[in-house]
Amino acid sequence: MAVLWLIIGLIIGGVVATAFARRAEARSAPSTASTNERAADREATELKARFDRIQAALDVLPIGVIVADPDARAVVRNAAADASGGDTHNEVLVQAAVQHHLRAAVRGEQRSQTVELYGPPRRVVIVNATPLAAGGAVATIEDITERSRLDSVRTDFVANISHELKTPIGALAVLAETLIDEHDPTVISRLANKTVNEAHRVAKFIDDLLELSRIELAGDLMIATCNVPSLVAEAASRNSYAADQRQVEVRVCEVARDLTVDADQAQLGSALGNLVENAVKYSDVGGKVTIAAFHDGDGVTFVVADSGIGIPAHDLDRIFERFYRVDRARSRGTGGTGIGLSIVRHVAGNHGGAVTVESREGEGSTFRLHIPDQAVPLT
Ligand code: ADP
Repeated sequence: MAVLWLIIGLIIGGVVATAFARRAEARSAPSTASTNERAADREATELKARFDRIQAALDVLPIGVIVADPDARAVVRNAAADASGGDTHNEVLVQAAVQHHLRAAVRGEQRSQTVELYGPPRRVVIVNATPLAAGGAVATIEDITERSRLDSVRTDFVANISHELKTPIGALAVLAETLIDEHDPTVISRLANKTVNEAHRVAKFIDDLLELSRIELAGDLMIATCNVPSLVAEAASRNSYAADQRQVEVRVCEVARDLTVDADQAQLGSALGNLVENAVKYSDVGGKVTIAAFHDGDGVTFVVADSGIGIPAHDLDRIFERFYRVDRARSRGTGGTGIGLSIVRHVAGNHGGAVTVESREGEGSTFRLHIPDQAVPLT
């Protein structure tokens, strides 16, 4: 990148210097024939046209470019540099950094600084300044806010995964070590069961993670006409074992037999499966879960309601975030990974739909997943 700007700077610097030199030459010899003057004017016009072309090319760049003379005075600025030259606090900070580094660059120093602007909006820009062989310097201003946001999402993601895996893997190690020295068959059986449970937890976490990344990375959706009653029945039967274990009654309301939805069947099945799984998981023994689906005018709405523990009001905004769990201790007991609802949110977004929740602590929760007739992914 720096090399590119060096070349641009050299071209601009060269073009401007040549134009001024040629005009000065023509004017300093008044006795020469007017044809010489006309030739000089023509050359100046051509140089001006070249300069305008270069300026136009610089103006379409998303990066700010400032070319400075040997006194560090800006002689060329592109449109992006002008746009960041306002008088807001952030813009003044960026200009100060540019000026500071240009002064060093005209003395032959190569400079680069990442400037964090705390906004709002928060922004991160990189200011580079490079000396030019022909004298002067070129500075660039690159907005890397999105790149730095993605970097921190990636870092958080890795930290979260490590944290989530550390606990069950630590438990597996302790259980295995204890088993080595244990001789009592009852204790061995208890420890072995715990080992199996922890191993299942790790496997479930990895499965959920793979599912989420498949759904997040999915390029084109495999949209097909899906039969809604089958989707609902499938989500219920997938969770029937867990429901029986917890003595939770899962009731599927009557769904119009010919109701269809255009969707990616695997993704929608996964979203509904997760909603029903949660409804069962967060219900008390003897609780009730109801599943319904209907056409609401512009698409199909799936409703999964339970009479379970409910969600505190201040957590409602966050439960769709990856790895977010209301009560980690309880979630651990139920084998929760904090990934299920972020899968549901992604599936909704991939189809241009939405997922909403209403809940009261101690009374239950109702999740609504809307898939529009014309599935247009939200960008
Ligand atoms: P988990 O694997 O922990 O269930 P989810 O992403 O599916 O992760 O859900 C995030 C959190 O939202 C859960 O940990 C739980 O606290 C809360 N939650 C989700 N669904 C329900 C529900 N039906 N009833 C009560 N709490 C729920």
